[in-house]
Amino acid sequence: MGEPSNDDLWFLPLGGTGEIGMNLNLYGHDGKWLMVDCGVSFDEPLKAPYKTSSEHSHSGQKHRVVAADPTFIAQRKDALSAIIITHAHEDHVGAIPYLWQRFQCPIYTTPFTAEILRRKLAQTKLANKVPIVEIESDTTHQFGPFTVSWLSVTHSLPEPFALKITTPVGSVLHTADWKIDANPITGKPFDVNRFKALAEENILALVGDSTNATKPGFSISERNCYDGLLSTIRSQKGKVVVTCFGSNVARLISLARIAQKLGRYMALYGRSLLNMYGVAKQQGIWPYDLAVVDAHHMGYLPSNEVLAVATGSQGERNTALARLADDTHPLLQLDKGDTVVYSAMVIPGNEDSIARVNAKLSARKINVIMSETHDLPIHASGHPCEEELKLMYHWVKPKIAIPVHGEPKHIAAHANVAKACGVKVTYEGVNGDLYRLAPQPSLRRQVVDTGRIPVLQD
Ligand SMILES: [Zn+2]
Ligand SMILES: [Zn+2]
Repeated sequence: MGEPSNDDLWFLPLGGTGEIGMNLNLYGHDGKWLMVDCGVSFDEPLKAPYKTSSEHSHSGQKHRVVAADPTFIAQRKDALSAIIITHAHEDHVGAIPYLWQRFQCPIYTTPFTAEILRRKLAQTKLANKVPIVEIESDTTHQFGPFTVSWLSVTHSLPEPFALKITTPVGSVLHTADWKIDANPITGKPFDVNRFKALAEENILALVGDSTNATKPGFSISERNCYDGLLSTIRSQKGKVVVTCFGSNVARLISLARIAQKLGRYMALYGRSLLNMYGVAKQQGIWPYDLAVVDAHHMGYLPSNEVLAVATGSQGERNTALARLADDTHPLLQLDKGDTVVYSAMVIPGNEDSIARVNAKLSARKINVIMSETHDLPIHASGHPCEEELKLMYHWVKPKIAIPVHGEPKHIAAHANVAKACGVKVTYEGVNGDLYRLAPQPSLRRQVVDTGRIPVLQD
């Protein structure tokens, strides 16, 4: 395939297109490359029995952590102008500690994501060795032949960004993960005008999030989710445990506010929650008036004053919720009439592990409320549904639509939305395909060998 000339603008995904997870995107122009995101994925469960580190044999399932095979760009690391991380989710940043040695290129990201990344690297041999450059929101920077503008969006954690990537032969809007949230709880509301203004900027291609393209309508705002959780928790008499994704700082803030309002005390159970709370406090994102109490104190409180937030929303073993269900948690016991609320969605593939946890809870007469079947909104996705995608295409008016961040069915649904919005060219590709955007748009199938490589075994 050669190398991109100064007439070329190429997009080449090594991971995250044709699947959800392990995003690794490359842009090529004038002999140089730009990497956008470097994430992990959780591979298909390995069938039991397996050995844990403590040598006890368990039956059950274990996930393997994998990343995109980076050989193509590792062989061209001298031509890599920058690594940009759009936000702090594992599928966008999680592979840096394992793959960075093969690129040795500076990383550019915003302060919240930088702090999450530093904490990850601190546990590895790369502690203090990786140059991480913090970028201010809504600024523009030059990396080799690429001019990159950070455009703030809304998503399900602090500081998510889309990128406008400009070269002399064309501009791309790389949306990364986004939704339209007018009331995001933390961070600024979605700025419609910033995206409407792109219509004047002759955007050649939109490379965008397909996760919820099969879902009609609009995503739910974090504010609606707050209201739903408030009503749900208000009607409980006993202890309440809420399980959610650790990185959703807005959800944690909502829960702390709900606890304050209802006269409950909130404590966090699980390392990832405590880590995220620590970063949110350090970055000035956590509101000063909202208290989080020490989990050791919760056992002494009356039941109707307890709001525990626990990891384990996907039924994972050895998490706080799994221990509470087994009644082996050292700091908290649940009793008949207490309630567990899933402020999360069931990720496909995890149904059985979640059902196992819930069966144990139900056997002990502990109520279980799932977001999928509850009559109030208690979880909000961070990705755009069909109507949000339509708005984005009407605003930006790109010539080419490139759906990414999805399985083939999500990519096909996203492409149909783009076509219905009048986008002339849509490319439905997968990892390893070369999307030539300039000078002559075309999609060349399977130009680069891709695959997944294991990055750690726990
Ligand atoms: Zn994300
Ligand atoms: Zn993502």
